[in-house]
Amino acid sequence: MFCSSCRCEFEGWSGRCPNCHEPLVEGTLRFAESDPPPVSYQALVDMVKANGGQLQIPLTTTAVGMERKWSFPYIGLGSAWAKRMQGSSKEVSIDLQAVDVGRDKRYGFPYRGFRFAWVKEMGGTIGGNETTLSATKVRRERKWSFPYFGFGYAWTEEMQGTCGDQIEIDLVTTEIGKRIVRRFPYLGFGLSWIKEGMLTMKVSAA
Ligand SMILES: [Zn+2]
Repeated sequence: MFCSSCRCEFEGWSGRCPNCHEPLVEGTLRFAESDPPPVSYQALVDMVKANGGQLQIPLTTTAVGMERKWSFPYIGLGSAWAKRMQGSSKEVSIDLQAVDVGRDKRYGFPYRGFRFAWVKEMGGTIGGNETTLSATKVRRERKWSFPYFGFGYAWTEEMQGTCGDQIEIDLVTTEIGKRIVRRFPYLGFGLSWIKEGMLTMKVSAA
């Protein structure tokens, strides 16, 4: 399922887009190939150096993963994570996909349960050059409401990695998506995922 308005894919979701409340449409989305073509690694390094040793490019999540489970008697468990993030400047395009997702769950007497998921590792390309990022900061939030509701949220706040041997990468979450899902008579669950982030490339002066 995808949203034709914000062009984000929501695998396994139904109803309306949690970003912009447009109805989700069946199928997958093909991206327009108007992104800048790959650049050589040296060209990428030079680009960052020419920008004072630091280059920032905003990323938008273009696919959100989700898992959910309704279990007897009244528990609903669910979690979501950013599955794909993309962005581009005039000269370079970035495409990252979640390659490892962290998962955890908590139960509390009598009917409370959460499931958490967050991006643990991402891999992809920056201007065609391979990069890997690992989560360095994960946030969790829990909300309890009377009598037996529990909502749990988790998302990755910061990731760090490298691209080749000269570029250091830092990806900071700038916006998260959140949604509460309920289904009678079960208790609902909370979903959260990275919606937007700022990727910074750094090249040491040496
Ligand atoms: Zn949307």
